[in-house]
Amino acid sequence: MSSAISTSAQVGEVRMLIDGTLTHARSGRQFDNVNPATEEVLGTTADADAADMDTAIAAARRAFDETDWSTNHAFRQRCLEQLQEALEDEKEELRAELIAEAGCPAIATFGPQLEWPLDDALRWPAQLISTFPWERTLPDTELFGMLSHRLVWKEAVGVVGAICPWNYPFEVTIGKLGQILATGNTTVVKPAPDTPWNATRLGRLIAERTDIPAGVVNVVTSTDHMLGEQLVVDPRVDMVSFTGSTATGRRIAEKAAPMVKRTFLELGGKSAMIVLDDCDLEATVPGASFMCMHAGQGCAMQTRLLVPRMRYDEAVELVTDAFAGVTVGDPSDPANISGPLVSAKQRDRVLGYIEKGKAEGARVTIGGGVPKDHPRGFFVEPTVFADVENHHTIAREEIFGPVLAVIPFDDDADAVRIANDNDYGLSGGIFSADRQRAFDVTRQLRIGSAMVNGGLFYGADSPYGGYKASGVGRQNGIEGFEQHLQTKAVGYVDDPDDN
Ligand code: NAD
Repeated sequence: MSSAISTSAQVGEVRMLIDGTLTHARSGRQFDNVNPATEEVLGTTADADAADMDTAIAAARRAFDETDWSTNHAFRQRCLEQLQEALEDEKEELRAELIAEAGCPAIATFGPQLEWPLDDALRWPAQLISTFPWERTLPDTELFGMLSHRLVWKEAVGVVGAICPWNYPFEVTIGKLGQILATGNTTVVKPAPDTPWNATRLGRLIAERTDIPAGVVNVVTSTDHMLGEQLVVDPRVDMVSFTGSTATGRRIAEKAAPMVKRTFLELGGKSAMIVLDDCDLEATVPGASFMCMHAGQGCAMQTRLLVPRMRYDEAVELVTDAFAGVTVGDPSDPANISGPLVSAKQRDRVLGYIEKGKAEGARVTIGGGVPKDHPRGFFVEPTVFADVENHHTIAREEIFGPVLAVIPFDDDADAVRIANDNDYGLSGGIFSADRQRAFDVTRQLRIGSAMVNGGLFYGADSPYGGYKASGVGRQNGIEGFEQHLQTKAVGYVDDPDDN
């Protein structure tokens, strides 16, 4: 991990996977894949249109309706094992590709960007196929003198539209695929146009290295966001699994509502790191700079730091020093923990929030602009705002950049009030010298996951998702697995010739 990872020879997969065939867009159009650290064009990807998407949806529907994919447990398990092996064989290429197209720091690929999900996102649901109670028996019931036996069957939902973001593209896509496929569904995956190659690579590996039948997985790349919406409104798609912004999530929920289509929405966050007054501030507060990992482009990043009012100045100084130590630069250099924003649009959006913070009266203690030594690439300086009030825009909205708001609280109840006083409810960090006190605070937080004294909840077996505007449903865990299943209650009577 000491030397830079070469991303120079990146040539990604241009073709999509539709109905078992690696294919270009019908129109022949392609779009550029840009390296956000250098602004150089890495290569191109097929730019699908609505007709391509239509073909992919039809293929997924057919594969669900006309093959035994949804019922053949042993076959699905074998296919997932084949895909696991294929991905492991190309792990290093995938690592370089993620660094190049997402601008994610190399160090993150040894964790949540690549290695953690590669380890369990397919394996865990594949193993669960063997032990999951696909059928259970309820006690017999007697009505009107007739004895009925009763069963509950768990069945695949059908075709799942999987709409993915650009910040942790492989992690999200493989997390969705593991659960969608293990539960017997078929799918059309729509990656974000900023990061298409990790998904087209998956498509190629599925086509070339697995027995997954044609149409079970389709990967459709496009610059047209409306292809995502096509998945939402097409009646042949039974469920939409979406990870991305709350604004788009709301629109998906609205568009899906007339069909009463099942939606799983993993959306934005504005998570708080709460440092209670019994903490050693020097040992705790600098950890807030972890939110600069991948330039703050993570939905669960702790972007509000809540500290005791009595020690506010000390905490601001400590976190400002920690931000000064954040290494920003070439993401292929494992020494850097913060690379660029994914695009010029995202950089400008983050800079806009910084200006808004200043205009609303908050004080920049470090950062606040584009780093002078990185005029090229979409970099933003790690930025700390002090004197933030919880009603300020930078304390309320998801910035998705390396920008921290430091907010004082009076006591534990006040910390809980401030943390919960937000539309989002995704995650959070709670620090205390007394674990029971930290748990007491954690129980009062309206959030879907918590890190107590830095503990990790992460894993394919761990249900992940949000309260409030942070989403509906859970990715991963038994909860996520079951979300991809329908439930059928069956009553039956003895045949005349039984016994
Ligand atoms: P987005 O939510 O609009 O895009 C995510 C995915 O949704 C992409 O694949 C996109 O093509 C697709 N999409 C867009 N419009 C759609 C629609 N109407 N119907 C169906 N699919 C649609 O996010 P973005 O515009 O790329 O980024 C904007 C902001 O979203 C970011 O600044 C950040 O705050 C937030 N974001 C959050 C996450 C997260 O994990 N919570 C991930 C990415 C972006």
